[in-house]
Amino acid sequence: MAKATKATKATKTEVKEETIKKGTSEQEKSKEVKEKEVKDKSGDRDLSIEQRLGNLYLLQSMLSEIDKIKTLRGELPLEVQDLEDEVAGLQTRIQNFQLDYKDIEMAIGQQKIKITDSNALINRYKEQLDNVRNNREFDSLSKEMEFQGLEVELAEKRIKEFTAESKLVAEEIQKSKTLLEDRRIDLRSKKDELDEIVAETRIQEEQLREKAKQIETTIDPRLLTAFKRIRKSARNGLAVVYIQRDACGGCFNKIPPQRQLDIKLRKKIIVCEHCGRIMIDPKLAGIE
Ligand SMILES: [Zn+2]
Repeated sequence: MAKATKATKATKTEVKEETIKKGTSEQEKSKEVKEKEVKDKSGDRDLSIEQRLGNLYLLQSMLSEIDKIKTLRGELPLEVQDLEDEVAGLQTRIQNFQLDYKDIEMAIGQQKIKITDSNALINRYKEQLDNVRNNREFDSLSKEMEFQGLEVELAEKRIKEFTAESKLVAEEIQKSKTLLEDRRIDLRSKKDELDEIVAETRIQEEQLREKAKQIETTIDPRLLTAFKRIRKSARNGLAVVYIQRDACGGCFNKIPPQRQLDIKLRKKIIVCEHCGRIMIDPKLAGIE
């Protein structure tokens, strides 16, 4: 199925390319002659309206082909971008959690040192208790021991809290890692899909872009700007349309007979009163 569409597409492009080649070689011929007479190559002030319209339509056809390729890629580039952002976000999140985890582990270590220190003090006080000379010394040592005992209890409580916290952080890290792995798999498959489509259409698109660029140089900048503006605002990307059944090929509003005649004469650039698209007769578009 996919292969069949590809095949039809290929023949279509070939046909188009042929018309394009013919178009450019004719232009080149006329350009050569003109360049001998006039040095100024900018714009198309020497081209007839008919030639200008023809070039515009040619440009339009090529840009439409590029649009078709883009449609084929669809939402994939955006989806890949979103997934890449999400993967990067998850990596940052995991790194931050890992830093938190280290901090907590370090805090637990500090509390453990405190316990060791306090226990060492308690043991020393215990030894000193054997040698007390009076009640005052005894009381003082007992108080110190009691204080260090409380310090140990406090440190143990802290360790318990920190341990609970580190467990939560470890869970978050694990959850994020699982999510990251899933997203990476999604990303890989979407990227493969996109790469495949891009590879299939890249050469075609490059050729179209190159030819579109060549034609653009033959179109007067003001007309080109207008063309691009119309194309941008037109929903289907068509800035140049031909008459179809007495109507504008873009918005399908009827065109009065006199106006149709003017269009067929190819002496003026005529735009649709309803949608603003540039109108040409079907013959100029190679139709009929
Ligand atoms: Zn229209």
